[in-house]
Amino acid sequence: IIKFDKVIKRFGDLTVLNELDFEVKRGEKVTIIGPSGSGKSTVLRILMTLEGIDGGMVTVNGEPLWHEQGPDGLRPASEAHLRKMRGQLGMVFQQFNLFPHMSVLRNVTEAPVKVLGLSKTAARERGLELLELVGLSDQADKYPHQLSGGQQQRVGIARALAMRPSILLFDEPTSALDPELVGEVLTVIGRLAEEHDLTMLLVTHEMRFAREISDRVCFFDQGQIREEGTPEELFTNPSEARTREFLQAVL
Ligand code: ATP
Ligand code: MG
Repeated sequence: IIKFDKVIKRFGDLTVLNELDFEVKRGEKVTIIGPSGSGKSTVLRILMTLEGIDGGMVTVNGEPLWHEQGPDGLRPASEAHLRKMRGQLGMVFQQFNLFPHMSVLRNVTEAPVKVLGLSKTAARERGLELLELVGLSDQADKYPHQLSGGQQQRVGIARALAMRPSILLFDEPTSALDPELVGEVLTVIGRLAEEHDLTMLLVTHEMRFAREISDRVCFFDQGQIREEGTPEELFTNPSEARTREFLQAVL
């Protein structure tokens, strides 16, 4: 459902993704781990169309993301194409990124109304269902600053789901949280991971959690996948010295 084919991404002189090949299948739950600066967030940001690419090809649901069909073959994607493609993905950010001046419910219903053209009533109904799913039905009328970090992040998850994405991306969703609030967010993500249709791509430092929910773990290093495998393979029996070194430092 996601394919990176020799993708190159540079920031000035810095090559962040160096001919990255990476694939995620429909329904798969994949965790990306790796040192700071290895390009983990960049991969998610490219998928959310927040960053462009400098080479190679990204495909989502069988369609090129950063290119589209023109009269003489593929050409760079138009804004309309990017908007259409973006609708298939939802992202949960480290810093929640909620709209501070909107109620919890409105944070969840805003995009479905504005972007999908859902009626306010339908969006509200769906929004309340999603808040129930993340255990926050009783907080619908509060504002983000009245919630704990863990609750805010659960709103972030409900908001990402409101657009009915087939792919959900998480960028270190618990690393801005106090330790005692991490569990409630992981519980919600774990519950989503049981949904077979949903494809999940997760960047996290919570290795124990990654091990529980992932079908596959990819170790990123210097803009490429250095090693990948089932959690069992990668965590208990990494074949690369670089992976072992990294795991020793974080476990
Ligand atoms: P972390 O674990 O610290 O979140 P990461 O693996 O997510 O790291 P990225 O955020 O993908 O790493 O960044 C990869 C490299 O690209 C880093 O060296 C970073 O400084 C650089 N970088 C990212 N975004 C930009 C930008 N907008 N402009 C310039 N450099 C950037
Ligand atoms: Mg990052």
